[in-house]
Amino acid sequence: MPLSKINKFVKEKSASVQSILSSRRRKIRKSIMGDAALFMGNPEVVASRDVYHPYRQNSDFFYLTGIEEPGCALLILGNNKGPRSILFLRDRDESIEQWVGERIGISRAKRRYGFDEVKDINEIEETLLEYIKTQHKLYYALGSDDSIDAFISEALKTSVGPNPNFPVTLSDSRVLTSPLRLIKDKREIKCIRHAANITAHSFMDLVPQLKKVSSEIHAARLIEANFAKYGGPRLAFPTIVASGKNATCLHHSPSLQPLWQRELVLIDAGASFQGYAADITRTFPVLGKFTTPQAEIYDLVHFALTAAINRAKKGSTLTHIHDTVVRTLTRGLVELGILEGTVQDLIKNEEYKRFFMHGSGHWLGLDVHDIAPAVPKKQLKFVPGHVFTIEPGLYFNPKDKSIPKEYRGIGIRLEEDVLITEKGNSVLSQTLPIARDDIEQLMS
Ligand code: MG
Ligand code: ZN
Repeated sequence: MPLSKINKFVKEKSASVQSILSSRRRKIRKSIMGDAALFMGNPEVVASRDVYHPYRQNSDFFYLTGIEEPGCALLILGNNKGPRSILFLRDRDESIEQWVGERIGISRAKRRYGFDEVKDINEIEETLLEYIKTQHKLYYALGSDDSIDAFISEALKTSVGPNPNFPVTLSDSRVLTSPLRLIKDKREIKCIRHAANITAHSFMDLVPQLKKVSSEIHAARLIEANFAKYGGPRLAFPTIVASGKNATCLHHSPSLQPLWQRELVLIDAGASFQGYAADITRTFPVLGKFTTPQAEIYDLVHFALTAAINRAKKGSTLTHIHDTVVRTLTRGLVELGILEGTVQDLIKNEEYKRFFMHGSGHWLGLDVHDIAPAVPKKQLKFVPGHVFTIEPGLYFNPKDKSIPKEYRGIGIRLEEDVLITEKGNSVLSQTLPIARDDIEQLMS
């Protein structure tokens, strides 16, 4: 695939991105009048000794600031007077920057972004004490920063009664961000679609090489290199490549295991673009042709996926999607003679769970398993702007003698990324073929 074709994502104007970010902060402020909300950036995490894991920003902080540096925080005050948004970050330091790269620094942050105040992260505790003492409630996600957790806990632990100089109520800040993050705006949809396109083209480039890869991990690194080639700098989640019976483990970590030539290989991977995740799964026959039992299971999983996509429209729910997947798979398993009994009883007794034991999908966004308000899935009716995955699968334990021999050890999952629109839905990952014939053709 020529790079020019995939790289046509229009370069964004920084001013328009900044106005989206500040309008998100405004929405939060308007919903917390008289209160305060503190969003901590993620800390850096040590892998071992002086080596760190690749840095990943906190998604809520990123959603409200677009800043990817460690050592940051955002305070939003529901006031009509005084500062309403205060950004904290590390100031510049030439000697450290020489080793680990440039920081934004305070004066640049003041010029570049629309915060009312910008302060050094070292001043966060005294600033909090100064600004939030008259607010009623503090929104903060416990666990987002150890030292701020301790600081807040200390401020609330007064033995004589409520601390007169600190908000008396602590609430989870994710109740503010999750409803906003659940509905994607135009730019977010564009980013997810682009991440899905990068992922799709990366799959297509990898597939003809599958016959020649030396191992699962080799295949994983090849698709990840393709993400980089097409401009997807990061993985949305660790790549899954599972050969043969390894695919009956749902999140198998790729190893040096060579691909079993006569078996299938399941690949579940996603690039991220501007922080937004794609999450696509396909299952391929390593030698390019499905055997009859493999084809039967593949077609059943694909049929369940298609039925579920047809149900993805305004007013429907993730529960409806799951019910459709369960019913379609169960009916198919009976027809293939793998399950015995009536479809109704098999569903009621959850017999299908022996072969399909996970959910049928999840919200997708800045996080691959994106955040949603803490209400039952049944109540979250689809509206335009919702993005989620649909991922039916069937997994046959290689050691289970009650399963007909020809199906044992088969693991197949297929996953698409779906956007709810006014008229129905749009499959964001549709660039990548999925029908069995198309998969065989892609491999030839
Ligand atoms: Mg996946
Ligand atoms: Zn998924």
